[in-house]
Amino acid sequence: MNWKDNVRRVTPYVPGEQPKDKNIIKLNTNENPYPPCPGAEKVLNGFDADSLKKYPDPNVTMLRQALADYHGVSFSQVFVGVGSDDVLGTAFLTLFGGDKPVLFPDLTYSFYPVWAELYRIPFREIPLDESFHIRPDDYRIPSGGVIFPNPNAPTGIYENKENVRKILDQNRDVAVIVDEAYIDFAGEDASVLSLLPEYDNLLIVRTFSKSRSLAGARIAYAIGSEEMIDCMLAIRNSYNSYTMNSVSIAAGTASVEDDAYFRNTVKKICDTRERFTREAEKLGFTILPSSTNFVFAMPPEKCPAAELFRMAREKGIYFRYFSAKRAEPYLRITIGTDEEMDLVLAFFREVYQN
Ligand code: PMP
Repeated sequence: MNWKDNVRRVTPYVPGEQPKDKNIIKLNTNENPYPPCPGAEKVLNGFDADSLKKYPDPNVTMLRQALADYHGVSFSQVFVGVGSDDVLGTAFLTLFGGDKPVLFPDLTYSFYPVWAELYRIPFREIPLDESFHIRPDDYRIPSGGVIFPNPNAPTGIYENKENVRKILDQNRDVAVIVDEAYIDFAGEDASVLSLLPEYDNLLIVRTFSKSRSLAGARIAYAIGSEEMIDCMLAIRNSYNSYTMNSVSIAAGTASVEDDAYFRNTVKKICDTRERFTREAEKLGFTILPSSTNFVFAMPPEKCPAAELFRMAREKGIYFRYFSAKRAEPYLRITIGTDEEMDLVLAFFREVYQN
């Protein structure tokens, strides 16, 4: 017997690269190219270092209350965590404790199977249809729960509320998690937040990493029924009661309070996305309809995805490439500033027009 025999073995999730070089065009991890709102910057610049000698508020009252007010829900319906990876991990551990398989799409956020394996949760991957949409009827089977991102990643495809409602109606007896990491780029009223009063088994997860330009601060939240949030808090407080640090709590609250800046940034990214899509299509790219801050793009045959990925990287342009399954002909390209996307288009013209 050796200590290693007792080690819990997992195949970890591999996040996108975070190169240090500031001169690269970094379009590989769906970060926001614009800075956090001025209010958040002010909080950070004026932060009282001395206050860090104290523990943060374990109830994260300020940020949870700001989010509750913003979304018109009660304080006890809001759970916050260190990025959605933390919130989702806690949700898996809390809500997916049954014996039946948890269902999620075959092409989706590749962290889901990792949490399932870590927590010994059986799971089943349900194939997306030919146009990469979820078929709600496929989720009409006995399960231990359901999770999917809406819009989905890495495809960028949005499922309308009626389809989400169908999935909820077919799964009233298990938890259904809708990971809305990219929902702010999907237009007004795209979220299923309005369905919350009807479904006490629905959990909606949101992040500050994309639309709020705060990936480095690691802030995300979930909204669900009070009972569901209570269950998640019990799990959270059974392994770490001070998850959110004071700096992020203050910066995150300032972000929620500046709605105009947030809306303006989101609009700029959506405009750039539409323009970039049109221009890349002119060069022969096939681009899935995106409701996110990235596009899933199939390059022309002359230089397919894997090769274009390598060539771009040599030029200091970073995309994300997934060699698995149906993702293999595509590149996932985060939408940067107009200037960055113009440089990407210039590079594409060099490759495909010569
Ligand atoms: N969900 C989805 C669908 C994502 O693409 C990501 C980004 N990697 C996350 C959750 C996690 O984001 P974060 O932990 O930064 O909130």
